[in-house]
Amino acid sequence: MEVGVRASTERNYQDGTRCEFMDGEVIFKEGEPGERAFMIEQGGVEIYLETNEQDVPMARRGPGEVFGEMALIDGGSRSASARAIGTCELISITRGQLAERIHLLDPVLRMCMLVMLDRFRATLKSVEAAEASADSRACHSCVDTTDGTHDDYTEAVDRIKLERELIAAVHANQFKLHYQPVIDLQSQRIAGFEALIRWQHPERGAVPPGAFISVAESSGVIVEMSHWALRQACEFLSRLMSRQSRCDSGYGLFVAVNVSGADVTQGAFADTILAIAGEAGLAASNVKLEITESVVLAQPELAARSLSTLKDAGFSVAIDDFGTGYSSLSYLYRYPFDTLKIDRSFVRGVLESAKMNRLVQSIVALARGLELDVVAEGVETPGQHQMLVDLGCGYAQGFLYARPMPECDVESGCESWRESFATQFQAIS
Ligand code: C2E
Ligand code: CA
Ligand code: CA
Repeated sequence: MEVGVRASTERNYQDGTRCEFMDGEVIFKEGEPGERAFMIEQGGVEIYLETNEQDVPMARRGPGEVFGEMALIDGGSRSASARAIGTCELISITRGQLAERIHLLDPVLRMCMLVMLDRFRATLKSVEAAEASADSRACHSCVDTTDGTHDDYTEAVDRIKLERELIAAVHANQFKLHYQPVIDLQSQRIAGFEALIRWQHPERGAVPPGAFISVAESSGVIVEMSHWALRQACEFLSRLMSRQSRCDSGYGLFVAVNVSGADVTQGAFADTILAIAGEAGLAASNVKLEITESVVLAQPELAARSLSTLKDAGFSVAIDDFGTGYSSLSYLYRYPFDTLKIDRSFVRGVLESAKMNRLVQSIVALARGLELDVVAEGVETPGQHQMLVDLGCGYAQGFLYARPMPECDVESGCESWRESFATQFQAIS
């Protein structure tokens, strides 16, 4: 039997799009380089071995199942051929979609996975040699790719589908940004806005960021999304400032955009942001980047260099959700932050527990000592507001002042905040 790389049957696939095969059409052939795996949306697929005499069927796959994944994972060639049974619709899963995940795996786990694949390929070869012309049904179980638990499998398939939808959503303009004011507690003016992404899904309705940001991050789609968000947010602020809107206190506003690890560790990140802010007519000082500690955990050195370049260019950098996760104090020393955002779980406890109150007090003092601005997140009650003022916290953000709003509601939202806030503030001070 011929082994080695054969002429490719592969089409010119578009990443993340569907492709259709007619009954009997060959999807890939044994020995070819495996550039992608496939998920079956509709129809079926037969996996088979070619021998000199006849093709030996090995397995059948149906809707929701994945095939062709081995070559994608270990970079080897196809160990069997595949053809369509009936008209069949497939979604391709590219090497790029898997590469980052495999890279992030624990090295021991990665080694075990590659060893398993290697043994599996060897088994396939011996099966092929021994049973090339025999009844092949006995082999079916040895190419069953669904050996994980059903839940794991379903979760993996859902993630692949979600990734595909996210890529399409970026191009179909299904994302929107909402803006939540950040209040200067001393002057009681709006200091800026945090941009928060929203996904208006055509079937599922509004999908909150918590349901898709991690998938966007692990698939790499986040980079495109972040560029989009940065551009939108800068243009929003530019429009707001040029209207000399009622939100603009004349002290210079900022817009804060959440960015991820994949953004920060991109070589040209600082240049890209400079260009986006410049095109929108904003100075770097109008733009704040919010990152969580997970951003710096993966590639600490690269992140430090990238953030320093941004800081030198005049952008502000905030550490988000401070107090959750590891929150190593050395981050405050190693990275050029100028703002620290206290997570809302601390703000919630500021009136409920004396210990939490002292903790927040200490974080504020620590930030002051390091000349960092402090923003308290998730302020929901006048009592929390007053306590944060008393503790010397500089800035705050939360439903008490305003919820995240679409651009069209920002000015009226800020106006009604000002009116209701003045009344509330007088009532509690
Ligand atoms: P985050 O950066 O900590 O954003 C603050 C979250 O708290 C937002 O949730 C906001 O709506 C919510 N929030 C604000 N004030 C209050 C309050 O008083 N009470 C309560 N209970 N919640 C409040 P959201 O919009 O669902 O965003 C969740 C997370 O998703 C964000 O947390 C951020 O980590 C991420 N995210 C949002 N937009 C983006 C984006 O454009 N890019 C990236 N990479 N991540 C984003
Ligand atoms: Ca944030
Ligand atoms: Ca936060």
